[in-house]
Amino acid sequence: MKSTRLRICAAKRRYPTQEQAQAAVEQATIILRPYRCDRCGQFHLTSRTKGKRIARPAG
Ligand SMILES: [Zn+2]
Repeated sequence: MKSTRLRICAAKRRYPTQEQAQAAVEQATIILRPYRCDRCGQFHLTSRTKGKRIARPAG
């Protein structure tokens, strides 16, 4: 699974601090969650929530 992670890491936006990641979460229109990446040591956002999908705004 290393290569998958590496690709995700490369494709995703990175945030050097959790504060910056959290700020991006709050600006997003969907539910995101910051997590620390063990490849780059920075933070990425994931849209995965615990089984609960949040509907997009109408339209
Ligand atoms: Zn990463």
